[in-house]
Amino acid sequence: MGWIDVHTHLNFLKDKSPEEALIEARAAGVSRFITIGTEPADHPVVLSIAQKYFPEVACSLGIHPHEGKVYSDEIHQFLEANVDRREVVAVGEIGLDYHYDNSPRDEQKDAFRKQLDLAARHTLPIEIHTRDADEDTVEILKEFRGRLSGIIHCFTGTQWLAENALDLGLDISFSGVITFKNAGDLREVVKYVPLDRLHVETDAPFLAPIPMRGKSNVPAYVVHTAQAVADLKGIDLETLKAATRANARRTFPKLQLD
Ligand SMILES: [Zn+2]
Ligand SMILES: [Zn+2]
Repeated sequence: MGWIDVHTHLNFLKDKSPEEALIEARAAGVSRFITIGTEPADHPVVLSIAQKYFPEVACSLGIHPHEGKVYSDEIHQFLEANVDRREVVAVGEIGLDYHYDNSPRDEQKDAFRKQLDLAARHTLPIEIHTRDADEDTVEILKEFRGRLSGIIHCFTGTQWLAENALDLGLDISFSGVITFKNAGDLREVVKYVPLDRLHVETDAPFLAPIPMRGKSNVPAYVVHTAQAVADLKGIDLETLKAATRANARRTFPKLQLD
């Protein structure tokens, strides 16, 4: 019974194949992975990785807010046709990113709403990416109240965002960012989120946790984020592992966790 990295990008890893990353992660006690789609070119790649390793590796499909401007009927049809595959356990990552504003905000919102609707119709959980867009994210999510499940991935928002997400039925997933020196406010949010509503992830190859900061992140490093969460919660690692496994089992039914 290992850790579950609920958000990773096995196709973006630096100098490492998915196979090499999985061998390293298994040795570190990480046993299940959700590898995440972000743009049209990604989707065949993440699907093929998940098909090769399922159920150890599953995937999600979705258009990242950075790519909101490319969202089209064709992409929508591709998602409609593929999200019911057994390897696709979520829709994402989807959301709003006003930090980089790589796509116009109206186009980000439009792609977010269309994919939220798609996930709800297919009864799939979502993996949300939101940065510097707390209020608009909550406003849009409220339109889907009662039809939502999933996570806010790589949570870096305020306690207000966490409260609202939890109230809307979403869980919170923490990444290596919680170990960073300047993340004091975020560590308070870790303490606030109930143990039965939280997850851990790497978002590899980005955001390696301390003590690996500066290196390219890999799924094996999720154990460092887990240790930080356990320390903040004042619980041991086994207790946290059991809780996060139960949370993943509830949130991502298609993972087929024991
Ligand atoms: Zn993201
Ligand atoms: Zn990501």
